[in-house]
Amino acid sequence: VLRVRDVRKRFGDHVALDGVSLDVHEGEVVTVIGPSGSGKSTLVRCVHQLESIDGGAMHLDGELLGYEFHRGHLRPLPDRRVAAQRGRMGMVFQQFNLFPHWSVLRNVIEAQVLVHRRRPEKAREEALRLLERVGLADKADAHPRMLSGGQQQRVAIARALATNPRIMLFDEPTSALDPELVDEVLSVVLDLARGGMTMIIVTHEMSFAREVADRCVFMENGRVVETGAPEEIFDNPASPRLRAFLSRYS
Ligand code: ATP
Ligand code: MG
Repeated sequence: VLRVRDVRKRFGDHVALDGVSLDVHEGEVVTVIGPSGSGKSTLVRCVHQLESIDGGAMHLDGELLGYEFHRGHLRPLPDRRVAAQRGRMGMVFQQFNLFPHWSVLRNVIEAQVLVHRRRPEKAREEALRLLERVGLADKADAHPRMLSGGQQQRVAIARALATNPRIMLFDEPTSALDPELVDEVLSVVLDLARGGMTMIIVTHEMSFAREVADRCVFMENGRVVETGAPEEIFDNPASPRLRAFLSRYS
Protein backbone atom coordinates (compact mmCIF):
# COMPACT_ATOMS: atom_id res chain seq x y z
CA VAL A 1 0.00 0.00 0.00
CA LEU A 2 2.68 2.46 1.09
CA ARG A 3 6.28 2.55 -0.03
CA VAL A 4 8.72 5.03 1.50
CA ARG A 5 12.20 5.15 -0.04
CA ASP A 6 15.24 6.93 1.30
CA VAL A 7 13.23 9.91 2.50
CA ARG A 8 15.19 12.88 3.79
CA LYS A 9 13.91 15.87 5.67
CA ARG A 10 15.84 18.82 7.09
CA PHE A 11 14.69 21.65 9.31
CA GLY A 12 17.39 24.24 8.72
CA ASP A 13 20.65 22.52 9.70
CA HIS A 14 18.89 19.80 11.60
CA VAL A 15 18.43 16.49 9.79
CA ALA A 16 15.10 15.08 10.99
CA LEU A 17 14.91 12.17 8.52
CA ASP A 18 18.19 10.79 7.27
CA GLY A 19 17.17 8.36 4.55
CA VAL A 20 14.16 6.45 5.85
CA SER A 21 12.73 3.51 3.92
CA LEU A 22 9.62 1.63 4.94
CA ASP A 23 7.02 -0.54 3.24
CA VAL A 24 3.55 -1.09 4.61
CA HIS A 25 1.56 -3.84 2.96
CA GLU A 26 -2.17 -4.31 2.70
CA GLY A 27 -3.68 -5.09 6.09
CA GLU A 28 -0.36 -4.68 7.87
CA VAL A 29 0.04 -2.83 11.16
CA VAL A 30 3.44 -1.20 11.66
CA THR A 31 4.27 0.42 14.97
CA VAL A 32 7.03 3.01 15.23
CA ILE A 33 8.95 3.44 18.47
CA GLY A 34 12.01 5.47 19.37
CA PRO A 35 13.28 8.25 21.60
CA SER A 36 11.96 11.78 21.53
CA GLY A 37 13.30 13.69 18.54
CA SER A 38 14.09 10.56 16.52
CA GLY A 39 11.85 11.66 13.64
CA LYS A 40 8.73 9.55 14.22
CA SER A 41 6.25 12.42 13.88
CA THR A 42 8.20 13.89 10.99
CA LEU A 43 7.92 10.57 9.17
CA VAL A 44 4.14 10.32 9.42
CA ARG A 45 3.75 14.05 8.73
CA CYS A 46 5.79 13.63 5.54
CA VAL A 47 3.65 10.66 4.48
CA HIS A 48 0.53 12.73 5.13
CA GLN A 49 2.16 15.61 3.20
CA LEU A 50 1.97 18.04 6.05
CA GLU A 51 5.72 18.44 5.47
CA SER A 52 7.53 18.48 2.15
CA ILE A 53 10.50 16.14 1.73
CA ASP A 54 14.04 17.03 0.67
CA GLY A 55 14.89 13.71 -0.93
CA GLY A 56 13.64 10.22 -1.63
CA ALA A 57 10.16 9.23 -2.73
CA MET A 58 6.88 7.92 -1.35
CA HIS A 59 4.22 5.95 -3.21
CA LEU A 60 0.66 5.17 -2.17
CA ASP A 61 -0.83 2.29 -4.17
CA GLY A 62 1.89 2.84 -6.74
CA GLU A 63 1.18 6.54 -7.13
CA LEU A 64 3.96 9.01 -6.37
CA LEU A 65 2.99 11.26 -3.46
CA GLY A 66 3.30 15.01 -3.83
CA TYR A 67 5.03 15.12 -7.20
CA GLU A 68 4.48 14.33 -10.84
CA PHE A 69 6.71 14.00 -13.86
CA HIS A 70 6.44 16.85 -16.28
CA ARG A 71 8.68 16.88 -19.35
CA GLY A 72 11.15 14.59 -17.68
CA HIS A 73 11.31 16.58 -14.45
CA LEU A 74 9.60 16.19 -11.12
CA ARG A 75 7.37 19.02 -10.11
CA PRO A 76 5.14 19.45 -7.06
CA LEU A 77 1.51 18.50 -7.52
CA PRO A 78 -1.08 21.26 -7.40
CA ASP A 79 -2.78 21.63 -4.00
CA ARG A 80 -6.00 20.09 -5.21
CA ARG A 81 -4.23 16.84 -6.14
CA VAL A 82 -2.26 16.82 -2.90
CA ALA A 83 -5.58 17.16 -1.07
CA ALA A 84 -6.96 14.21 -3.02
CA GLN A 85 -3.95 12.07 -2.09
CA ARG A 86 -4.25 13.13 1.51
CA GLY A 87 -7.93 12.17 1.39
CA ARG A 88 -6.84 8.56 0.85
CA MET A 89 -5.13 8.54 4.24
CA GLY A 90 -6.62 9.02 7.69
CA MET A 91 -4.48 10.80 10.25
CA VAL A 92 -5.01 10.89 13.99
CA PHE A 93 -2.93 13.31 16.03
CA GLN A 94 -1.95 13.54 19.65
CA GLN A 95 -4.22 16.57 19.92
CA PHE A 96 -7.61 15.62 18.57
CA ASN A 97 -8.17 18.76 16.46
CA LEU A 98 -11.94 18.49 16.35
CA PHE A 99 -13.90 21.58 15.34
CA PRO A 100 -15.14 22.84 18.70
CA HIS A 101 -18.21 24.60 17.33
CA TRP A 102 -19.57 21.57 15.52
CA SER A 103 -21.40 18.61 16.95
CA VAL A 104 -19.66 15.25 17.05
CA LEU A 105 -21.80 14.09 14.16
CA ARG A 106 -20.95 17.08 11.99
CA ASN A 107 -17.25 16.63 12.71
CA VAL A 108 -17.48 13.14 11.27
CA ILE A 109 -19.72 14.12 8.35
CA GLU A 110 -17.86 17.13 7.06
CA ALA A 111 -14.67 15.57 5.66
CA GLN A 112 -16.71 13.10 3.64
CA VAL A 113 -18.74 15.85 2.03
CA LEU A 114 -15.73 18.09 1.38
CA VAL A 115 -13.17 15.52 0.29
CA HIS A 116 -15.34 12.93 -1.38
CA ARG A 117 -18.43 14.92 -2.28
CA ARG A 118 -20.60 12.31 -0.65
CA ARG A 119 -24.30 13.09 -0.43
CA PRO A 120 -25.18 14.49 3.00
CA GLU A 121 -27.66 11.69 3.84
CA LYS A 122 -25.08 9.08 2.88
CA ALA A 123 -22.36 10.87 4.88
CA ARG A 124 -24.65 11.04 7.89
CA GLU A 125 -25.45 7.35 7.72
CA GLU A 126 -21.75 6.52 7.47
CA ALA A 127 -20.92 8.86 10.37
CA LEU A 128 -23.48 7.20 12.62
CA ARG A 129 -22.17 3.78 11.70
CA LEU A 130 -18.61 4.84 12.59
CA LEU A 131 -19.64 6.49 15.85
CA GLU A 132 -21.32 3.23 16.75
CA ARG A 133 -18.11 1.41 15.94
CA VAL A 134 -16.04 3.60 18.30
CA GLY A 135 -18.75 3.28 20.96
CA LEU A 136 -20.12 6.81 20.78
CA ALA A 137 -23.44 6.50 18.98
CA ASP A 138 -25.13 8.21 21.92
CA LYS A 139 -22.84 11.27 21.67
CA ALA A 140 -23.64 12.22 18.08
CA ASP A 141 -25.30 15.48 19.05
CA ALA A 142 -22.85 16.46 21.77
CA HIS A 143 -20.18 19.10 21.28
CA PRO A 144 -16.52 18.08 21.61
CA ARG A 145 -15.98 20.15 24.77
CA MET A 146 -18.61 18.06 26.56
CA LEU A 147 -16.59 14.90 25.95
CA SER A 148 -13.62 13.42 27.77
CA GLY A 149 -10.26 13.35 25.99
CA GLY A 150 -10.67 9.65 25.30
CA GLN A 151 -14.08 10.21 23.76
CA GLN A 152 -12.78 13.11 21.67
CA GLN A 153 -9.97 10.95 20.38
CA ARG A 154 -12.44 8.24 19.45
CA VAL A 155 -14.43 10.84 17.50
CA ALA A 156 -11.20 11.86 15.76
CA ILE A 157 -10.66 8.21 14.80
CA ALA A 158 -14.22 7.95 13.45
CA ARG A 159 -13.62 11.13 11.46
CA ALA A 160 -10.38 9.78 9.99
CA LEU A 161 -12.14 6.54 9.05
CA ALA A 162 -15.03 8.33 7.41
CA THR A 163 -13.22 8.96 4.16
CA ASN A 164 -12.46 5.26 3.70
CA PRO A 165 -8.71 5.67 3.94
CA ARG A 166 -6.30 3.20 2.36
CA ILE A 167 -4.07 3.64 5.38
CA MET A 168 -4.45 5.10 8.86
CA LEU A 169 -1.61 7.11 10.42
CA PHE A 170 -1.56 7.53 14.19
CA ASP A 171 0.88 9.88 15.90
CA GLU A 172 0.87 9.10 19.62
CA PRO A 173 -2.92 8.97 19.83
CA THR A 174 -2.93 8.50 23.60
CA SER A 175 -0.09 10.64 24.88
CA ALA A 176 -2.31 13.65 25.60
CA LEU A 177 -4.76 11.55 27.61
CA ASP A 178 -5.12 10.95 31.31
CA PRO A 179 -3.91 7.41 32.07
CA GLU A 180 -7.38 6.08 32.81
CA LEU A 181 -8.57 7.10 29.32
CA VAL A 182 -5.76 5.46 27.37
CA ASP A 183 -7.25 1.96 27.20
CA GLU A 184 -10.55 2.93 25.62
CA VAL A 185 -8.68 4.53 22.72
CA LEU A 186 -6.17 1.70 22.35
CA SER A 187 -8.95 -0.85 22.26
CA VAL A 188 -10.56 1.00 19.34
CA VAL A 189 -7.22 0.97 17.50
CA LEU A 190 -6.75 -2.71 18.30
CA ASP A 191 -10.22 -3.40 16.97
CA LEU A 192 -9.31 -1.67 13.70
CA ALA A 193 -6.15 -3.74 13.47
CA ARG A 194 -8.09 -6.96 13.93
CA GLY A 195 -10.49 -5.75 11.24
CA GLY A 196 -7.63 -5.66 8.73
CA MET A 197 -6.98 -1.92 8.51
CA THR A 198 -3.56 -0.94 7.19
CA MET A 199 -1.88 1.31 9.75
CA ILE A 200 1.24 3.07 10.93
CA ILE A 201 1.11 3.75 14.65
CA VAL A 202 3.67 5.93 16.43
CA THR A 203 3.42 5.21 20.13
CA HIS A 204 5.22 5.30 23.45
CA GLU A 205 2.93 2.59 24.82
CA MET A 206 5.36 -0.30 24.52
CA SER A 207 3.04 -3.16 25.45
CA PHE A 208 0.51 -1.85 22.95
CA ALA A 209 3.20 -1.38 20.26
CA ARG A 210 4.01 -5.02 20.72
CA GLU A 211 0.48 -6.35 20.93
CA VAL A 212 -0.99 -4.57 17.92
CA ALA A 213 1.94 -4.82 15.51
CA ASP A 214 2.64 -7.16 12.67
CA ARG A 215 5.95 -5.37 12.44
CA CYS A 216 7.73 -2.88 14.62
CA VAL A 217 10.20 -0.18 13.58
CA PHE A 218 12.74 1.41 15.92
CA MET A 219 13.95 4.86 14.92
CA GLU A 220 16.78 6.94 16.23
CA ASN A 221 18.40 10.11 14.89
CA GLY A 222 16.20 10.18 11.82
CA ARG A 223 17.02 6.63 10.80
CA VAL A 224 15.37 3.25 11.00
CA VAL A 225 17.80 1.39 13.25
CA GLU A 226 15.96 -1.89 13.49
CA THR A 227 12.79 -3.43 12.13
CA GLY A 228 11.19 -6.79 12.72
CA ALA A 229 8.40 -8.85 14.17
CA PRO A 230 7.37 -7.60 17.61
CA GLU A 231 8.86 -10.67 19.32
CA GLU A 232 12.23 -9.97 17.70
CA ILE A 233 12.19 -6.29 18.52
CA PHE A 234 11.05 -6.64 22.12
CA ASP A 235 12.52 -10.01 23.17
CA ASN A 236 15.61 -10.14 21.04
CA PRO A 237 16.78 -6.64 20.09
CA ALA A 238 19.89 -6.77 17.94
CA SER A 239 21.22 -3.24 18.31
CA PRO A 240 22.60 -1.89 21.59
CA ARG A 241 20.65 1.33 20.96
CA LEU A 242 17.34 -0.49 20.93
CA ARG A 243 18.30 -2.50 24.00
CA ALA A 244 19.12 0.69 25.85
CA PHE A 245 15.87 2.29 24.72
CA LEU A 246 13.74 -0.67 25.82
CA SER A 247 15.46 -0.95 29.18
CA ARG A 248 14.11 2.51 30.03
CA TYR A 249 10.60 1.15 29.70
CA SER A 250 10.83 -1.96 31.84
P1 ATP B 1 8.60 12.77 20.11
O1 ATP B 1 8.70 11.36 20.60
O2 ATP B 1 9.08 13.74 21.13
O3 ATP B 1 7.28 13.11 19.54
P2 ATP B 1 9.60 12.49 17.38
O4 ATP B 1 10.35 11.21 17.21
O5 ATP B 1 8.21 12.53 16.93
O6 ATP B 1 9.71 12.89 18.93
P3 ATP B 1 10.00 14.66 15.57
O7 ATP B 1 8.90 15.50 16.07
O8 ATP B 1 9.79 13.94 14.28
O9 ATP B 1 10.46 13.61 16.68
O10 ATP B 1 11.27 15.57 15.47
C1 ATP B 1 12.52 15.17 14.90
C2 ATP B 1 13.47 16.30 14.99
O11 ATP B 1 13.09 17.35 14.10
C3 ATP B 1 13.52 16.94 16.37
O12 ATP B 1 14.85 17.24 16.67
C4 ATP B 1 12.68 18.18 16.24
O13 ATP B 1 13.16 19.19 17.09
C5 ATP B 1 12.89 18.55 14.79
N1 ATP B 1 11.69 19.22 14.24
C6 ATP B 1 10.47 18.65 14.07
N2 ATP B 1 9.61 19.52 13.51
C7 ATP B 1 10.29 20.68 13.32
C8 ATP B 1 9.96 21.96 12.79
N3 ATP B 1 8.73 22.21 12.32
N4 ATP B 1 10.93 22.90 12.77
C9 ATP B 1 12.16 22.64 13.23
N5 ATP B 1 12.54 21.45 13.74
C10 ATP B 1 11.62 20.48 13.80
MG1 MG C 1 6.42 12.98 17.83
